[in-house]
Amino acid sequence: MDSKLNGKIIKGVGGFYTVLTDGGKRYTCKARGLFRKLGLTPIPGDNVVISVDKKGAGFILEILPRVNELIRPAVANVDVLLIVVSAQEPLPDLELVDKLLLFCRDQSIRPILVINKCDCGENDTAASIAYQYSGAQIKVLSVSAETGFGMDGLFDLLTGCTVCLAGQSAVGKSSIINKLLGLELTTGELSYKTERGRHTTRHAELIQTPSGGLIADTPGFSMLESIRLEPEEIPGLYPEFEKYKGQCRFMGCMHLSEPDCAVKDAVKDGSVNKERYARYVKTANEAIEARRHRYD
Ligand code: GDP
Ligand code: ZN
Repeated sequence: MDSKLNGKIIKGVGGFYTVLTDGGKRYTCKARGLFRKLGLTPIPGDNVVISVDKKGAGFILEILPRVNELIRPAVANVDVLLIVVSAQEPLPDLELVDKLLLFCRDQSIRPILVINKCDCGENDTAASIAYQYSGAQIKVLSVSAETGFGMDGLFDLLTGCTVCLAGQSAVGKSSIINKLLGLELTTGELSYKTERGRHTTRHAELIQTPSGGLIADTPGFSMLESIRLEPEEIPGLYPEFEKYKGQCRFMGCMHLSEPDCAVKDAVKDGSVNKERYARYVKTANEAIEARRHRYD
């Protein structure tokens, strides 16, 4: 009899999937033809049930329901998204950060805001970013992929998690991935980036970290293309606004131009960070605009 095992897909190339079983073994598997008929493509991160025959050939029998799914890179069941910004060049794009946070909240992914390039400890930029997100109920971590500052703390947070990275170009995502994987930046041969350069479209692969987690080797932020939030959903995704629920004059207040708005009062007296609120206004208005276009 073939044995049945539970595991996770960590890689898929040309119809062959590498499955890491709960027992820590790897099997190369083919997928059942049935999945294709159902329009279901197995992707890294998928929790699966496989059967292994006497010769060691594996078959994916079942794909368990996905908790969430990133599109580019295609990764399922992501536990943590590291949203990376830089304390030096390039200047942080906090609008992008806020949108990635919305994406995380919508998809039940735990975000961690990583401020990289804190080579001499935290600087003013890092302090300002941390301040702006102090009410956002997220972990904010200052690190330097170059010196290793703060990287142990990051390691500890990722034990046992499936992790993806996102953020602007050149903030140091690849450097952080290399560091988390224990690859030395100087050994260009080993670093995943040199390998990536040769391919234009590359499938993500989940790589086991020394601390027992899995990290997607392909960062990106095109995942934002897949979120389309209705404007009314957005205020509820800002933890800063939670404690003012029910205190605005209007039910369903969007905290934009409505009178007697508890959130706007909180911005005025400094209880809600004004920069983050200003970006919220922009994001909410964009969503309202986008809906108008959809129905035009
Ligand atoms: P990515 O585009 O986000 O993947 O960024 P890279 O990892 O390619 O890094 C972009 C540039 O920033 C490279 O020249 C890195 O050497 C540099 N870099 C990465 N991390 C750090 C850091 O912690 N401190 C400093 N000073 N530079 C860094
Ligand atoms: Zn309001």
